[in-house]
Amino acid sequence: MDISGLDAVLIAGWPGTLASLWQQAGRAGRRGEDALAVFIARDDPLDTYLAHHPEAIFGRSVEATVLDPENPHILGPHLCAAAQELPITREDLALFGESTEGQLAELVDRGLLRKRPRGWFWTSHERASDLADIRGAGGPPVQIVDTASGLLLGEIDEAAAHGTVHTGAVYLHRGATYLVDDLDLDEGVALVHAAEPPYSTWARDTTDISVRSVLREETWPSGASVCFGEVEVVRQVVGFLKRDVRTGSVLGEQSLEMPERTLQTRAVWWTLPREGEDRLRGEDVPLLGAAHAAEHAAIGLLPLLATCDRWDIGGVSTAVHADTGKLTVFVYDGYEGGAGFAERGHAAAREWLTATRAAIADCECEQGCPSCIQSPKCGTGNEPLSKSGALRLLDEVLGAGS
Ligand SMILES: [Zn+2]
Ligand SMILES: [Zn+2]
Repeated sequence: MDISGLDAVLIAGWPGTLASLWQQAGRAGRRGEDALAVFIARDDPLDTYLAHHPEAIFGRSVEATVLDPENPHILGPHLCAAAQELPITREDLALFGESTEGQLAELVDRGLLRKRPRGWFWTSHERASDLADIRGAGGPPVQIVDTASGLLLGEIDEAAAHGTVHTGAVYLHRGATYLVDDLDLDEGVALVHAAEPPYSTWARDTTDISVRSVLREETWPSGASVCFGEVEVVRQVVGFLKRDVRTGSVLGEQSLEMPERTLQTRAVWWTLPREGEDRLRGEDVPLLGAAHAAEHAAIGLLPLLATCDRWDIGGVSTAVHADTGKLTVFVYDGYEGGAGFAERGHAAAREWLTATRAAIADCECEQGCPSCIQSPKCGTGNEPLSKSGALRLLDEVLGAGS
């Protein structure tokens, strides 16, 4: 189908980058005629923000892509993809950064590239971009098998399998509904059967984060400090909720015994000064609910500044964190070694948190909803959350509250 020269284009939800927004909008319009592009906001804090702040779209230049080229988990796949196009030569090494030669040696060791006198070659018949496990993080992908037919329905990476195809999960695949009978992580297989249960499932997990090193720290006039550094994230799926498919109400909860997963990555985090915390306490602001709501909205808004998806990043919020001794909100890169998203958040922290506050304030709901502070990937079922608390907390951080 020729999709140029349409009269109107409807864009359902933020397409990820300003560049692709303009590209989609640009499909509308025949030569010399007026055209219409309509942006339809989804239930998402970033879309809420954009619907109320069109200047964030019209007043900005097309973003630079955020990538940390020195991160081996990013560099490796890029080198493979490049080598598939043309062998990488010594002269190319400077293009990819300092750690390139070590990375190439590792890729050769792993059998992904072959070194020859003229350079490094991609030797597989597969496309480099199709290699799911090329990052080397997590275990092999989990295969989802329909026990009735014996058919392989699909594959899912190991990290995602814990939350989506755990034993007892309702799994959706191409419009059909399945129940997971058993997830065997050692064998890398999830056995499912077609079913129509009257409920959906929602994994619950616990996340612990500890600070390994602080790489950057700044203190704002409000006394809040905003840090960037290396962290260790330990996540574990501990159970799941069953929710009525029609009403969303919780029908029951079941616990699971799943192994912990550890991620060494990078995070941006901010803390409140004591006086700010005392002020909030004095106003009976529920601190954990406020921090948790601010965390969700901040995760939703980071793709405005860093080219990422909210599923690429995670968060942890605590009323008192063991490493900082204070109320702390963390947002971390969901990739081993970090991916540059948290770093970008730190560099643009004031703009980011200002937009986060605006998205929450602009949302017309009373108590919080999926367009502002609720998250589709929350491991605690979106509890506790406080919308008014998040606004007061962000005021204290940004210095607008005193
Ligand atoms: Zn809302
Ligand atoms: Zn949450």
